[in-house]
Amino acid sequence: MWSVANKRAGGVLDPAPSVCSTCGFELWIPLAALPACDVGLYDDARFPGRMLVSLRPHFEAFELLSDELTTLFISEVQKVAATARKVLGADRINVAILGNQEPHVHAHIVPRYGAVEPVPHKSPWDDPRQRVRLQSSVRQSLIDQLSAAMDDKSSFRM
Ligand SMILES: [Zn+2]
Repeated sequence: MWSVANKRAGGVLDPAPSVCSTCGFELWIPLAALPACDVGLYDDARFPGRMLVSLRPHFEAFELLSDELTTLFISEVQKVAATARKVLGADRINVAILGNQEPHVHAHIVPRYGAVEPVPHKSPWDDPRQRVRLQSSVRQSLIDQLSAAMDDKSSFRM
C-alpha cells in the first residue's frame, strides 16, 4: 500500500502530480505518494523532519470529505506520524489541520524535540525562533530516510 509502484489503484485517486490542479497547492519537496495523499518535507530547521500530508483530490475543508475519504486521509496521516516518530526519534509528533493560508486539505506533521526547543510545551506556531531552511546535508538525509521508510511496508504498524 505504501509502495510507489502500488499507489493509486484507480477510482477517485487517479494519478496526479503533487500540485493541485484546482488551487495550485504544491509540495516543494515530495517524499512519497500514498493511496490518497502526497507527503512532502517542510523545510524548517526548527523541527527537522516536519512534513505535510496533502490529500490528493482537492477539497476546501476537512469537514467536506466523505466518510470514506476521511478514513483514508486520517489513516495515512497517522501512518506518516508513526513513521516520523520512528525515523526521527522525536519526543512527540504534533498533527494539525488548519487551512488558514492554504485551504486545500492537508495536515502538518511536526516532530517535537523537547530537549532543544525553547517552548516545548507550546504549539509549534508559538516557537519564537525564526524559521530557516535545513542545512542541505541534513535536508538530504531526512529526504532519504523518510522516503525510504514510507516505501517500506515493514517499517509501519499496519
Ligand atoms: Zn487544491
